[in-house]
Amino acid sequence: MAKIIIIGAGGVGRVVTQKCAQLSSVFSEIILASRTLKKCDDIAIMVKAKYEKVKISTAQVDADDENQLVNLFEKKRPFLVINVALPYQDLTIMEACLKTDVHYLDTANYEPLEEAKYGYHWQWAFKERFKKAGLMAVLGCGFDPGVTSIFTAYAAKHHFDELHYLDIVDCNGGDHGNAFATNFNSEINIREVMQKGKFYEKGSWKETAPHEISRIINYPNIGPKKSYLINHEELESLVKNFPTLRRARFWMTFGDEYLTYLRVIQNIGMAGIEPISFQGNQIIPLQFLSVVLPDPVSLAENYEGETSIGCRISGLKNGCPRTYYIYNNCDHRAAYLETGAHGISYTTGVPAALGAKMMITGKWSGTGVFNVETFDPDPFLEDLSKNGLIWHEILDQNLEMD
Ligand code: NDP
Repeated sequence: MAKIIIIGAGGVGRVVTQKCAQLSSVFSEIILASRTLKKCDDIAIMVKAKYEKVKISTAQVDADDENQLVNLFEKKRPFLVINVALPYQDLTIMEACLKTDVHYLDTANYEPLEEAKYGYHWQWAFKERFKKAGLMAVLGCGFDPGVTSIFTAYAAKHHFDELHYLDIVDCNGGDHGNAFATNFNSEINIREVMQKGKFYEKGSWKETAPHEISRIINYPNIGPKKSYLINHEELESLVKNFPTLRRARFWMTFGDEYLTYLRVIQNIGMAGIEPISFQGNQIIPLQFLSVVLPDPVSLAENYEGETSIGCRISGLKNGCPRTYYIYNNCDHRAAYLETGAHGISYTTGVPAALGAKMMITGKWSGTGVFNVETFDPDPFLEDLSKNGLIWHEILDQNLEMD
């Protein structure tokens, strides 16, 4: 039983809070904190109405300000912080955890505000300090990164002696009815998908122009969808932790119209992250754009269809070639009916709550900074199916990925 603080009252925060409330035998008390107190209060009111047993309170905090975080953590004395604010806040929250003896978990790796370039090295650099303090920091415990990394660990543990080829395949087969919107924080999402493509092959990283490589991939219960090779954060840690990998790639589906909008946004300068002067004020075009785009949370009500995210792996077992596909499909409508959030927030929030459960119950333990594929995948995946994200596996069938 442990007290936790959740930071970030967006789409993912809404799901994490409810999932923790459902697991009241593990999470004895929840404090939901964000920059805007009203967003926390709205979620807390809804959660209290649904889950009578829950002990929940709210707080206002600017997580860019380490002192505010330290004051909050000292006042509330949580066991663990679940960070579902934005990647920009990862380092300040980790610093505050070290100062106040609090464990840490997040779903997205650090990215500096002034440069659209994420990577693990900033957070891995905290390893010795967390170790020395006897604390645990778990990085990237959403769906991708998160479940995709744990799926890979599960494959390595149960089905392979050597992993050779890994393709993470991410399809959103849903429709929210808007001309253009992003499924999670618009600023982070647009920065991510406009980056150059990147994949790992034969011991080195290869770069491509944005969306240069595409192929049709067949997704279960959805069908064939054009999928683009993009850079994605879990590739960086997976190739380190599974050194037999000869190639690791990440594929994501985008509709033609979505990509046209993105190109226009970029061509007219609205994806810019350098400050510009507007009517006497300094503004960042991409931040302005994310204010005028639909709030990702608001998409949930009319979202229909499914997501399908999984790992297609080939390698060796007992000296013989083997293929393996492990995946989850999540229905947007079902996610909305349970939590008021769509499938993208749901597939991120459920793993974050379960990762926190693994830490609290000691199923995942250690001191230092960890990527999720380094833990035992079994207890997590057992819980995942019981908590709304059922997964499936297919052995030794054609993966269509060469
Ligand atoms: P939202 O934009 O909906 O929510 C982000 C929340 O963080 C908002 O409530 C915002 O507060 C809060 N926040 C932002 N800055 C601060 C700050 N300085 N101090 C305190 N709170 C702050 O995003 P999502 O919920 O969609 O995504 C949350 C996180 O999940 C992101 O980091 C995203 O990258 C990650 N993610 C991970 C995925 C995975 O599979 N691993 C998939 C999808 C998302 P306010 O509203 O008050 O401004």
